[in-house]
Amino acid sequence: MNKKIIYLDNAATTKVEPLVLDLYNRAHEVYFANPSSIHKLGQEANYVLEKTKENILRMFKLYDHQIVYTSGATEANNLAIKGACLRYKNRGRHIITSIYEHPSVLEAFRQLEAEFDFKVTYLKPNSDGVITADNVIANIKRDTIFVSIMAVNNEIGAINPIEEIADKLKAYPKVIFHSDCSQLIGKANKEINFNKIDMFTVSAHKMHGLVGFGALFKRKKIDLLPLASGGGQEYNLRSGTSDLASALAFEKTVMMALSSFDDRYEYVASLANKIIAHISMKKDEFELNLPNPYNPYIINFSSLKKKGSVIVEALSNNGVMVSSVSACHSSKEKGSYVVASLGKSDVAVNNTIRVSLDYNNTEEEIDEFLSILDKILGEIR
Ligand code: PMP
Repeated sequence: MNKKIIYLDNAATTKVEPLVLDLYNRAHEVYFANPSSIHKLGQEANYVLEKTKENILRMFKLYDHQIVYTSGATEANNLAIKGACLRYKNRGRHIITSIYEHPSVLEAFRQLEAEFDFKVTYLKPNSDGVITADNVIANIKRDTIFVSIMAVNNEIGAINPIEEIADKLKAYPKVIFHSDCSQLIGKANKEINFNKIDMFTVSAHKMHGLVGFGALFKRKKIDLLPLASGGGQEYNLRSGTSDLASALAFEKTVMMALSSFDDRYEYVASLANKIIAHISMKKDEFELNLPNPYNPYIINFSSLKKKGSVIVEALSNNGVMVSSVSACHSSKEKGSYVVASLGKSDVAVNNTIRVSLDYNNTEEEIDEFLSILDKILGEIR
C-alpha cells in the first residue's frame, strides 16, 4: 500500500509525535524501577512521577486538583462517574448527563441506573447541538449529586459551555461536576479556567500522545470509590504499578498540545471552512450537522442520496481516511445516536460522515479530499 494517505480521522486517534515516542523509549532506559519500591532507584522514579503531575497541573494553572493516571479516557470517565456516585450515594441518587456523551460515560450512567438504583436524567442538546447551562440547572433536583457533560462532542464537534455550567452549579454544593475533555485539549480549550471544573478527563492519544494512557483531574477534596483495588497507587484510587515512562510521555504530550494554540486553531479553522463551504454548495447531496459553537477539528455531514458507509469506503479506497459514525461504536450500530439527538431525519442519522482534522493536515490534502469526494459521488450509484 504505497498510495498517498490523507488521514482525516483525528478524532478517533492521532499519530504519535516522534518526540513523545522518543522520550518514552529513553525513559525506559533510565527510570525502569518500580516507583513504589523503597530503594533509591524506586524513590527516584517516584520523585520523577510526582514531578510529572506537578508540571502538568502547573500547565493547566490548577492549584486545588490532583491527577490520577489511568489507561485512557474510558477508565478516567468510569472512575469519575462510578467512583464519585458510589462513594456519595447516601447523599442522593439522582444524576445528570447528556444523551450524546461518549459510550464510556453513557454506559457508566446506565450501569448506575440498572445495577445501583440511581435515577438518571439524559439531557438533549438544543437546536444548535449544545447542552446549555440553563438546561442543566433546570433539571437539578433535591437529591442530585452528580453531573457529567462533555466539553466537545466527538462526533459533531459541539462545544458545551462547561465553565458556565460549573459557575451555575456552584449554587448546588452537593453536586459534583465532571466533564469529559478528551476532544477539547489542544483543540478548543482556550481561556477555560479548569479550576472551576471539579473533575475532568483527558486522553493522551487524542493529542498525539500514546494510546493507553490518560488522566482524571480531580479536586483533592473529592473522594472516589476505587474501581481497581490493590497496592494503593494513585492516592489509593487506582491500583497497579505506576507507568512512569508513559507519564513522562504524557507530560510532553500535554506541553505540546497546549503550545501554539492560537496559530493551530486559526489554521485548522481555515481548513474546516473550506470543507464547510464545499459541502454547503451541494445541498441536494449533503446536509451539514454543524453545531453552534463548533470545534473546527470535527466536521460532520450526512449524505442524503447515497449510503454514508459506501462513501466512507470509497474514500478509503482512494486513500482518504474518514469515519461514518465514531470508531467507538461503529461496529455495533448503523446510525449515529449523536446526530439523532439533533432531531435529524433517519436518512441523515444513518448516513453520517465525520471528517476530523489536525494541524498537520495541509490545504492540498483538503483540496484533494474534496475533489476525490466529488469524483466518487459521480461514480457511486
Ligand atoms: N471520550 C471521548 C469524547 C472520546 O472521543 C473518546 C475516544 N473516542 C473517549 C472518551 C475514549 O478515550 P480512550 O480511547 O482514551 O479510552
